[in-house]
Amino acid sequence: MNEKERAKRAKKFLKNLKRDGITLLPRVRKCRLCGKKFFYPEFLEKEVDRYVASGLCFECGYWRKFLDHIPRHLQVTNGKCYKVLPFVSNKEPYMTLGGNGKKRYFVTKELKPIMSNDVWFIGTIPERFRYRLADTGWFCNESAYKSLCKFNKKCMEAGCLDRYRCFRFDTSIELKNGPYNTIPSDWVLKGEHCGFFLDTEKIIDYISPITPITNETTEKEND
Ligand SMILES: [Zn+2]
Repeated sequence: MNEKERAKRAKKFLKNLKRDGITLLPRVRKCRLCGKKFFYPEFLEKEVDRYVASGLCFECGYWRKFLDHIPRHLQVTNGKCYKVLPFVSNKEPYMTLGGNGKKRYFVTKELKPIMSNDVWFIGTIPERFRYRLADTGWFCNESAYKSLCKFNKKCMEAGCLDRYRCFRFDTSIELKNGPYNTIPSDWVLKGEHCGFFLDTEKIIDYISPITPITNETTEKEND
């Protein structure tokens, strides 16, 4: 049989399969959670996780399992999960540290500063699971870390004119009561000369839950 004949036969074979409603990939399954189609390989079946065996795709199975057994030292920032392990000061040559042992700083929502040289990125939690795992904080720079080591309390000064740029400001006050005052449009940052001012720009990817109210915003709204 030559190449041409072989190809012709194969084509006919596939055509017949299609006619009989037989799919060549009987192991393609549909995830009962996200609806994604995935290939369920035979060799994994015996040892496969019970999550995947229960009809979830590998991604859903992985995150479901992760959320049911949350590891210690887990920190979540903007949906990204990291293991921020305690600082290793006596690194043995055989040890592998996360992030190549680079020093990193983290601050929790409760303003607890953490320094680590053993940070492991786990993965970004898919949107469909976000409701189960809230963010715990943010990475920050060294100067913010040091400032928080000295003093890690929130500030309740509702009328502070630097509050929208100060990480210490307890935004829950404003979320509850609305803005105490508006910021003059010609206000120069740090004009309050507060020794505890901690610039939000030192907190990586920090997004404030409140929208700054300045005189400019009010003027625009009144237009
Ligand atoms: Zn899925």
